[in-house]
Amino acid sequence: MAKYTLEQFRADYPNDAVCLDKIFKVRFGDLRCCPKCGRETTFKRIPTRKSYQCRLCYYQIYPCAGTPLENTRTPLNYWLYAMYLMTTTRTGVSAKELERILGVTYKTAWRMNMQIRKIMSAMQNRKFTGIVEVDEVYLGSTYVRKGAEPKDKKPVIGIVERLGEVRGVVVDKVNKETIYPILDKNIDKSATVNTDEAKVYLGLEKDGFEKHHIIRHLYKCYRKGAKSTNTVEGWFSQIRRMYATHIHISEKYLQNYINEAAFRYNHRFPETPMFENLVLNLSLFDE
Ligand SMILES: [Zn+2]
Repeated sequence: MAKYTLEQFRADYPNDAVCLDKIFKVRFGDLRCCPKCGRETTFKRIPTRKSYQCRLCYYQIYPCAGTPLENTRTPLNYWLYAMYLMTTTRTGVSAKELERILGVTYKTAWRMNMQIRKIMSAMQNRKFTGIVEVDEVYLGSTYVRKGAEPKDKKPVIGIVERLGEVRGVVVDKVNKETIYPILDKNIDKSATVNTDEAKVYLGLEKDGFEKHHIIRHLYKCYRKGAKSTNTVEGWFSQIRRMYATHIHISEKYLQNYINEAAFRYNHRFPETPMFENLVLNLSLFDE
């Protein structure tokens, strides 16, 4: 796995202007259409105001609005540097270390440390949006082929956000009482939910999910593209391959193994530094 090094980081983010460009790009993408005047346009950075202005109607966008970076006097590249350190250091970084590395006061370092940690934990509770696939797999202490009788096995609910992350939850039984609270917790109601034709999913629209696509595997109607559960099934095959490494996985620790598999899947693009993910989710901060 290619590591994103400190030298690379320093070269990529030498000053505040570059940082702001980065935050704008990560949060607003390649903005070609003005949200105010609706015309095709480009945005120009206003150096004195941490904002970008539509060249046609002068509407301004503040990429740091609603984030801890909005009213900060600490330079933006210090913030990104702190985020970089906190996401790449295995054991985390203390306020004391940030104070020393960044050369800021302990009070500032402590605040940055705490605010970034808040965003990181909000990210774990983020609800999936867009196209979300849900499926279940039965896993036991030793792997048996799919379709084989599940005896001592536990069902695992897999939830995958297309082009995004996965989450896996071990449950006792597959029924509405166990599954729906998990789906409510992890999926935004605006999402399009793809499932197979299992009965348990038939009440999803009643539960408030607007769009529910049922993929009918029984009729061998495997579909590519938006309407499928191929992504979640792909993740399940990754989990099954773990059984080749570990041979025996006890029920007691099954959730830990699922979490590990999810972590690995969620960090499958090493070229996208983890701290970019943080930048993307800056607005999750809630003071
Ligand atoms: Zn405009």
